[in-house]
Amino acid sequence: MAISFEPTPSTVESRDYYNRVAREQMRPISRKYDEQEHDLPREWVDWYWETGRKRPASTAKLGDETDGMIQVCVQAEELCWGDAALYLRMPTPALGGSAVAAAGTPEQRKRFLSGFRAEGGHPIWGAMAITEAAAGSDAAAIQTTAELDESSDEWVLNGTKIFCTAGEGASQAEGGFVVIWATVDRSAGRAGIKSFVVPAGTPGMKLEGCEKKLGIRASDTATLVLEDCRVPRGNLLGSAEVKKRDAKKTGDKGFKGAMATFDASRPIVAAMAVGVGRAALDFTLEELERNGIRVRWEAGLHEQSAVERDLLEMQAELQAARLLTWRAARMLSLGKANSLEASMAKAKAGLSVTRITQKAVELLGPPGYSTRMLAEKWMRDAKINDIFEGTQQINQLIVARRILDYPSSVLR
Ligand SMILES: Cc1cc2nc3c(=O)[nH]c(=O)nc-3n(C[C@H](O)[C@H](O)[C@H](O)COP(=O)(O)OP(=O)(O)OC[C@H]3O[C@@H](n4cnc5c(N)ncnc54)[C@H](O)[C@@H]3O)c2cc1C
Repeated sequence: MAISFEPTPSTVESRDYYNRVAREQMRPISRKYDEQEHDLPREWVDWYWETGRKRPASTAKLGDETDGMIQVCVQAEELCWGDAALYLRMPTPALGGSAVAAAGTPEQRKRFLSGFRAEGGHPIWGAMAITEAAAGSDAAAIQTTAELDESSDEWVLNGTKIFCTAGEGASQAEGGFVVIWATVDRSAGRAGIKSFVVPAGTPGMKLEGCEKKLGIRASDTATLVLEDCRVPRGNLLGSAEVKKRDAKKTGDKGFKGAMATFDASRPIVAAMAVGVGRAALDFTLEELERNGIRVRWEAGLHEQSAVERDLLEMQAELQAARLLTWRAARMLSLGKANSLEASMAKAKAGLSVTRITQKAVELLGPPGYSTRMLAEKWMRDAKINDIFEGTQQINQLIVARRILDYPSSVLR
């Protein structure tokens, strides 16, 4: 499939806008909220709610012949160049929104997402909670249950979700919501897993606390406990039917619909990684230049210094990750199946950003390891891109399955 990697004028304009936002709104408070881990970055959240969200990331819709999804990735790259943790703290539907968009009906999309577009009000968040103590990579092992109470026409949820990004905001600020993955039938394995929208403040959904983390510290990563938490029947996304076979033919968007969320979210996480990697590379190049070291990009292999060689490799890693990301994004915009490309981009970008940021700290010398510079923070922020939205290993596994055409029951 031919894909143009030349950004359209509107993508360039969007990139410039978000680069300004990153420089002016995010960088100045980046260190502050890395150190004040559990404080709400009020100035950023309020600015975004009042000003930032009014500029849509893209005017394009899925399936448009435009670079709509590429614009979403460009936005993520620029804002994560500013600060990845503050990006994750933006009051948006985030992954919860992707889940509603992927598996919900038009009515559900309107019901759960319109609050994010409404004028005024207070900042709200969306989140998606899959992970449990015994279910991470293997989502089919989910223990949280959902039982239908026919008498009240409500689903009753019970279980504990851990490591939920934006889980504090999404469970507490009225108008927000958490998409909870739960099983309606444990014996059915993955076919029994469905996703449920639990609005913020629903009795029975308790915020147990937030993690203290290595990186992306300004992002709230919550533990949520569900105890007889009731939501209306209509809050289940997709069909309640448990079909072990032919989900595609029957149009059951349950587990498959929920998994489809990743086709949209992995390119965005890959773009986040590219943003953090670029922050580290740009800064390293600026510092070297300030110290009178000019990189000879054009130098032949035998003429390059060791540092130049490192920088060329960093640059190549970054470009490769971005191109894979844009390919996966573009395919999504065109409505084409992109699971393979989304996992490729996510795996490549996660690995690249960890390498690039570590190299940056190395090349910057001792100050790079000090909190005087942001390089050490970027190195800490980088690693998460190799963990959430499918770990490095899991994305590589998906790529292998798709290329070799092995089912998950065979290659696991
Ligand atoms: C900061 C942060 C934010 C997060 N946000 C969210 C969120 O918003 N929502 C959410 O639901 N979850 C979230 N997570 C959880 C994250 O998605 C999981 O940590 C991740 O999916 C891995 O699951 P696990 O931790 O249970 O690891 P495990 O699945 O136990 O894996 C442990 C290790 O084994 C490897 N491994 C596992 N299976 C295989 C295999 N078949 N082949 C090869 N290697 C394998 C993994 O790659 C990993 O290296 C977040 C995690 C963190 C740290």
